Order: sequence, then C-alpha cells, then structure tokens
Amino acid sequence: MANLNPSRLQMETIAVHAGRAPDGASGAVAEPIQLSTTFERATDFSFPSGYDYTRAGNPNRAALEEAFVLLEGGAAAAAFSSGVAAAGAIFQLLSPNDHVIAPRAAYHGVLRLLREVFGRWQLAVDFVDMTDLDAIRNAVRPKTRLIWAETPSNPTLALTDLAAVAEIAHANGARLACDNTWAPLIQRPFALGADFIMYSTTKYFGGHSDVLGGAVILREADDFASRLCDLQKIGGAVPSPFDCWLVHRGLQTLPWRMRAHCENAARVADFLSGHARIARVNYPGLVSHPQHALARRQMERFGGMVSFELKGDRAAAMQLPNELKIFTRATSLGGVESLIEHRQSIEGPESLAPETLLRLSIGLEHPDDLIADLEQALG
Ligand code: PLP
Repeated sequence: MANLNPSRLQMETIAVHAGRAPDGASGAVAEPIQLSTTFERATDFSFPSGYDYTRAGNPNRAALEEAFVLLEGGAAAAAFSSGVAAAGAIFQLLSPNDHVIAPRAAYHGVLRLLREVFGRWQLAVDFVDMTDLDAIRNAVRPKTRLIWAETPSNPTLALTDLAAVAEIAHANGARLACDNTWAPLIQRPFALGADFIMYSTTKYFGGHSDVLGGAVILREADDFASRLCDLQKIGGAVPSPFDCWLVHRGLQTLPWRMRAHCENAARVADFLSGHARIARVNYPGLVSHPQHALARRQMERFGGMVSFELKGDRAAAMQLPNELKIFTRATSLGGVESLIEHRQSIEGPESLAPETLLRLSIGLEHPDDLIADLEQALG
C-alpha cells in the first residue's frame, strides 16, 4: 500500500491492502509465492534486493510482517512458525533469574513452555490469578521483567485488565506481553499499554484451520525489538513462504470474519444462557459475565469463543458433542467451521477446566443453524 496513508484508513481497508502491491515483474494482483531458499547476490556479493537466504528473510514473510505492523500500529513484527514459537521467542530474550508473572489459567501450551522448558533455564515464574490486580502487584519482585497476559483466556474467558496491568508492569521496570489470539482487531493491546502483542496466527488470522503460524508485534523499535528480530533468524523457527502467504491472505478478510464470529457467538451465548441443562455460560458479552464492565471498556466486540458448564457429570459433558451435527469435535479455534471440545481431556492432568466444561469456537455458519444444532443435542 505504498501510496496509501494508513492513518487515514479504516481497518477493513488496511487489512485488504497491507503489505501488498501488484507484482513488479508480472503485474500479478495476487501476491506471488517466493519458494526460493536462496537469492542471487551482486558481483561484490552484496544482496541489493535485501534477501540472501530465506531463513533470514523472504518476500512473503516481509509482506506479512509489514501487514502486522500496519494493522496493530507497532514499530516492528516478527512472524514465527507457530504461536508457541512466537511466545517462546519472547521468553528466550529474558536472562536466567529474571522473573515472569504469568496467568494461572491460560493456553496450556504456553504454560507448559514456561514450566517445562524455561524453568530449566532458571527463569523464575509465578503463576497468578490475572483477574486479581492485588495478586499481580504482590507477585512483583525486583527482577520481574515480564508480565504475560492472555485475554480473554482459556478456558473460562476470564479477562485481564490490560491498562491496569500495563501500569503495574511499567511502574516496576517490567514489560507487558499480551497473547491477543482470541481477540484480534477487537481488542487493541498497544492502545491499552501493552509492549508486545503475540498471536497464534493459526487461529483467526489464518481463519480456515489450514495453516500454523505465530507472530510478535512490538510497540517500540528498541533493543528488545531488534534482539527479537535477530532471534527469529538465528533461532530459525520461521514460517514457510506458503504459510506466510496463507496467513497474509487470511488477514485480508479478518475484520469482516471477526464481526461475524462475534455476532454468531453472541447469539449462541444468549441461547445457551437460557437453557435449563446449562449451569453456566462464559462469554464476555453477557451481562452475567463477572467482568462484563471491563469487557465493554477494553474490547470493541466480545469474540467468537464461548464456553459453558453442563449440569450433570463429566460423562454427560463428554456425550453432548456426539449429539451435534454441525459442530466438529476438534481442538483449536478461529476457523470458518464451528468446533467443540471437552477442554479438560484435551489439556490433560494439569487442566484447571471444570470436568463439565465444553468450549466452542463459533464459526461462520448461520447462527440459526448453530442454535438449532445445539437445541436438538441438548434435547
Ligand atoms: N495462544 C493461545 C491463546 C492459543 O489458543 C493457542 C493455541 O490454541 C496458542 C497460543 C498456541 O498457538 P499454536 O498452536 O499456533 O502454537
């Protein structure tokens, strides 16, 4: 979007054009995929195109990273081969004995990374209830360097007050990273004070359950940002050119898909909250959500994820997904198709998910059909 000024454009327009221009060589409007792993050098062995080897840089990755920066308004971005690789890159930039405050309840893969990998590297981690600001304040130590937030979070859609936690982090010389995977574009962590935004682009960015990816977007072009961009190349957990192309294509329709995911999820959450077989519905858009006021403050819309607790026992919760015809029993989220999972059995023995909790990723089917499917399954 060389001739367009993003500060004057709406998100939908930026998403369609960010990191794109017709191909200089062929005029192709759709971005070509550059599969080459290596690039010809000049006679003096410099590389005036900016590309020498695809782990260090690739046109499709550069285009995707430019789009992330334009969408979030940060200073730099680095794309990774998965969401956990993106999270791990942030943790790798810390030093032994640095201290991290992380959520007790969050995506289990990121929590495992902290516990099982970075614990051995002497990173000190406290897992706290991120809905409790005093608990976060009390966890701060002189060597606290990072606070990790995931909001809305797995599996009960609890929220973290990003503005308040950013204040705590900055007052204590730490930075705030926000895993914004569940709320792209509908929650703007930089505007709320976060320093890093992390995404599993496997989810809403890709949007079609067919590509794995991750990203870190950095608010400031500082030493941490340049070390992270170096680590992406040195560490090598980079996405393939085709994966970058798929995520970049998904990003073009992200604002419209998010709108529809959110509208559908709100309808499904409403339906579930009125059903006699359901004990509790977790959705930030419901007035019954304990942090609904915070949701209204920090989210433009309330997302496409809903979880609920069924009355009865684990067996009943395990059986319900088998009665559904449109929802697929599968993990993950953010695709066009609606998914259902029994979170406790997916997360394993350390799961904090109640045994009767089911998690829905609401897709882009018609909400009437989704509700009818749930209605017949609930009986
Ligand atoms: N963060 C959140 C909130 C997630 O839900 C997930 C995956 O489900 C991840 C990170 C990990 O992403 P990936 O599977 O792309 O590594």
